[in-house]
Amino acid sequence: EQGFVEVLAPIIGPCTDPGIRGARQATIDYFGRTYKVMSSAILYKQMVAASLKKMFFFSPNVRLEPLETVKTGRHLCEFFQVDVEEADASYLDAMSVAEKTLRRVVERTLELHERDLASLGRKLAVPETPFKKLTHREAVEMLRSKGYDASYSEELTWSNEEAISSMFDSPFFVYDYPKGSRGFYDREDPRRPGILRDFDMIYPEGYGEAASGAERENDCEIVTRKMRANGEDPESYEWYMEMLKLGVPASAGFGIGVERLTRYVCGLKSIWEARPFPKVAGIYSP
Ligand code: AMP
Ligand code: MG
Repeated sequence: EQGFVEVLAPIIGPCTDPGIRGARQATIDYFGRTYKVMSSAILYKQMVAASLKKMFFFSPNVRLEPLETVKTGRHLCEFFQVDVEEADASYLDAMSVAEKTLRRVVERTLELHERDLASLGRKLAVPETPFKKLTHREAVEMLRSKGYDASYSEELTWSNEEAISSMFDSPFFVYDYPKGSRGFYDREDPRRPGILRDFDMIYPEGYGEAASGAERENDCEIVTRKMRANGEDPESYEWYMEMLKLGVPASAGFGIGVERLTRYVCGLKSIWEARPFPKVAGIYSP
């Protein structure tokens, strides 16, 4: 409905998203070379957006999450992301696509499955757009004023994210995260050094993060510098660096987790209930 073209997502490749907050990447032996199982297909999105302008993947992701995520209610080791990217777009454009997408999903679910939701005891209203927007600084101030220990220079912790989510009854955005809190691909604002042009969309009622998004860093030199600062070796991102050298248009996008969306829409206590054969950190299961 918004003009985005679906592309089949790669599942394995020589490199994948390193910005996965303490999770480990899964690897496989690919004819004698180590390949990664996609922790996110983000690196491929810029290339596809360069050719199709507006694209999305339904992308299966694997992240070996830390054991403590068993308690968050929103982490699986295998999950799906709808990964969206638009060339020549800003993070404000991406936020607008994200909120329209969420609104539409809720609208359709209410149209088609109102009785199912009632049987789950879930009361859900179509959220009004545009969603509220808080800068990261404002979010930290809000948390601190309620007695939480939140840092101005880091991404919100999982417990802070849940706390701020509980303070709202409609989805909202936190934007302008501090430099260093995210992967090398989130673009630093050239006019406000230290601030990234990125965001999270957050569910209300304590359900926490729905999606993360940003404008992309597409300058090869800046990316190289940021990789080195994060302790990463640009050589292990060979095809990606090659792409940046040849040049890709500026773009922005986001990834929204499918199981978290199901959990929120259905009002489930834990994400394990939101998909068949859930993989939870440290637990051997089918
Ligand atoms: P990230 O790039 O880490 O922000 O991931 C993008 C989106 O994928 C998040 O906003 C979540 O909706 C979803 N996601 C990330 N990690 C997990 C996980 N371990 N289990 C389920 N969903 C996840
Ligand atoms: Mg995130």
